[in-house]
Amino acid sequence: MGIEKLSVASMLAGIREAAVITCLDGNIIHYNNQMKRRLPNIDNAKIITEVFSLASKTFNVSCFKEFSSIVKRRSGLFPIRLKFNDTRLNDTSTIPAYVSVLMDAENNEPAALIYKLDEHIVRFNNRLRQLQDAKRAHAKIAREAKLKASMDSLTGLKNRRFVQSFLEMQWKAYTSKGEDTVLIIFDIDYFKQINDTYGHAAGDEAIKAFGKCLHSQTRPSDVVSRWGGEEFVVVLANCSSTQARLYLERVMTSIRQLRIKYKNVVNEQRLISMTASAGYCPFSQASSVQEAFSQADRALYEAKSEGRDQYRRACPDIAMSELTSAFPNSRSQLLN
Ligand code: GH3
Ligand code: MG
Ligand code: MG
Repeated sequence: MGIEKLSVASMLAGIREAAVITCLDGNIIHYNNQMKRRLPNIDNAKIITEVFSLASKTFNVSCFKEFSSIVKRRSGLFPIRLKFNDTRLNDTSTIPAYVSVLMDAENNEPAALIYKLDEHIVRFNNRLRQLQDAKRAHAKIAREAKLKASMDSLTGLKNRRFVQSFLEMQWKAYTSKGEDTVLIIFDIDYFKQINDTYGHAAGDEAIKAFGKCLHSQTRPSDVVSRWGGEEFVVVLANCSSTQARLYLERVMTSIRQLRIKYKNVVNEQRLISMTASAGYCPFSQASSVQEAFSQADRALYEAKSEGRDQYRRACPDIAMSELTSAFPNSRSQLLN
């Protein structure tokens, strides 16, 4: 004889936790409202393994077969841990439940199984999961905030703050390992005219395209930053001045070839073109980041005053020239 549906229903009604009653082969006889609330689509499940699968998509069904054969040989209430892989927790976790064997009153043989979720552990696991989710969300926000703090919002390039600390880091690499770095300052030529002719929004598009153009020619180890307005600082890490010149040649050519499509207020398409000037300074001819910066800035000024659309290498400061004439070997490095 089996377990009567009526007695099963009254038995389930007296259980506070989510519970399911099954035959010995795992076929579901009945479940209570708490279980229905926990797994709203439990109606689709025919056997207990499907309940576990609903609870966790990766539930390992094979472990249930072994488990049910053990269960049939036992009686009373005992806890079970059904293993499943929880990808969110990134480890093998468990469904905490108790199972007990319902005995047939006539022949005292096992007749059915009742599964009850261990609500304390479920709540604990849920809380743990919430905390882990919150921790991940906080870490994501912190990562994004850090990225934002170092990013220029118009171009998506690094900002002035980031490049300043990057330059300090590169200076340390230069002084400790002798790895040279080249600092380049770019300034778009006659940018005011672009704004005046096409409008401020078009000017913004030109700034973005210009930044992209500088970035497209660099290596991942280099940093391209918007210093402010239409001025950009590029840091070529571990780079000789010959390599820097090659970069500048390439990039100046692509700046000249840039055509920015822009629709004006009356929806007419316009093509904006531009040129830029640049000054560059290898760390090896400066005695500090600040000095490399002011040398590059002076070189930029020279490039501007000599007609724009060109780049200039910085002249070493007087003190540095005196130093290098006292050490002739380093002069050849300066002039390469
Ligand atoms: P030069 O060749 O001497 O560099 O001439 P210039 O016209 O580029 O001169 P200057 O550097 O003085 O002008 C830069 C202009 O860039 C002034 C400012 O209105 C404009 N500008 C600064 N920031 C932005 C920005 O974010 N968007 C736009 N559209 N324009 C900007
Ligand atoms: Mg400027
Ligand atoms: Mg300018």
